[in-house]
Amino acid sequence: MSATALFGNYARSNLSFDHGEGVWLVTKDGRRFLDCGSGIAVNSCGHSHPHLVKALQDQAAKLWHISNLHQMPEGERLAQRLVDNTFADKVLFVNSGAEAMEAAIKCARRYQYDNGQPDRFHVITFEGAFHGRTLGTIAAGGQAKYMEGFGPKAPGFDQVPAGDLEALKAVIGPQTAAIAIEPIQGEGGIKEMQPEFLRALRQLCDDNGLLLIFDEIQTGVGRTGKMFAYEWSGVAPDLMAVAKGIGGGFPVGACLATAETAAALAPGTHGTTFGGNPLAMAVGNAVLDVILADGFLQDVQKKGLNFKQKLAGLVDSHPKVLELVRGSGLMMGLKCVVPAGDYVAAARDAGLLAVPAGDNTVRIMPPLTMTEDEIATAVERLEQAAQAVEAKLVEGAAE
Ligand SMILES: *Cc1c(COP(=O)(O)O)cnc(C)c1O
Repeated sequence: MSATALFGNYARSNLSFDHGEGVWLVTKDGRRFLDCGSGIAVNSCGHSHPHLVKALQDQAAKLWHISNLHQMPEGERLAQRLVDNTFADKVLFVNSGAEAMEAAIKCARRYQYDNGQPDRFHVITFEGAFHGRTLGTIAAGGQAKYMEGFGPKAPGFDQVPAGDLEALKAVIGPQTAAIAIEPIQGEGGIKEMQPEFLRALRQLCDDNGLLLIFDEIQTGVGRTGKMFAYEWSGVAPDLMAVAKGIGGGFPVGACLATAETAAALAPGTHGTTFGGNPLAMAVGNAVLDVILADGFLQDVQKKGLNFKQKLAGLVDSHPKVLELVRGSGLMMGLKCVVPAGDYVAAARDAGLLAVPAGDNTVRIMPPLTMTEDEIATAVERLEQAAQAVEAKLVEGAAE
């Protein structure tokens, strides 16, 4: 039996951190790790950002929680700022990504129901998708490994290959309520959907009375160098799930919607006890102060391009370890030749944290505040890791 009282559902590294400073995580014994995982694309402003720390401390001294039975001025402010910077007219706050997706799915179904189409409750999703770990969102994601042993798959989810318009058209029917997609698949291995494909989805939704749901839980809040990744395609969804980066490390999720769609969740139809609590809203507002500052997103684009170019060079010089780099902004994936887990471990040994994903890919998703100097250090460490993996390959071949 393992020594800890925690559930054993995570395969944790043996690292234990004491504190963080910007892009760095520091262990008790003073070892410093360059955080290129951001706690899975969460620490958008890095660790211990003074503006975020102050916002949380100030709010903590005033009010923590009041429930959604009362007015929520901090939440109204954050919602308005999200509305001002997106397609959306309305925002619902929740506590996590899966809850944001659940809210989007429920809203889409209820919208069809309210329009006299109660049979339209199916959501079409795409192979390789990840939408969360609740009973509903594992069915939406459709991955057998996440559903095994958890009872029958929740009904109402149809899946087609990503990018396959014909397969998609074939599955749209009188039961379809919505199409849900990540503009870039995160857990699936940093796989970008083509802008034309997203545009075609928009058209199909409009032609068939369906709602378009974008899952921007991982791609959102500046990660790709735009506030939201859908901006690159020029098409807007009807519903959007947001989480991870919006709280900068404080648990926050949000479901964004057009006014017409949001109206489906009338009083009493949906709710959450904690969602949008004052602590979460204070931090969310502080994160937006950083991300929406003049020039910040352009800077992320520039840094992302530079980082990606350097990673392409790394791939070129280590073809036995790395196959290719893909992604956008500071959301990048290194598809590996060796097992991705081996490369993540070697990077960790070199003092850099990265996150494995599907399709044998290693995700590089540092805080958006990372500097060019820190990018250079990251590339050095990733180079070191590639050399270490290569040396092991040679040893293995010699044996
Ligand atoms: C992380 C993630 C989720 C789930 O978010 P949780 O906060 O873990 O529930 C859903 N969709 C995408 C695209 C994600 O990256």
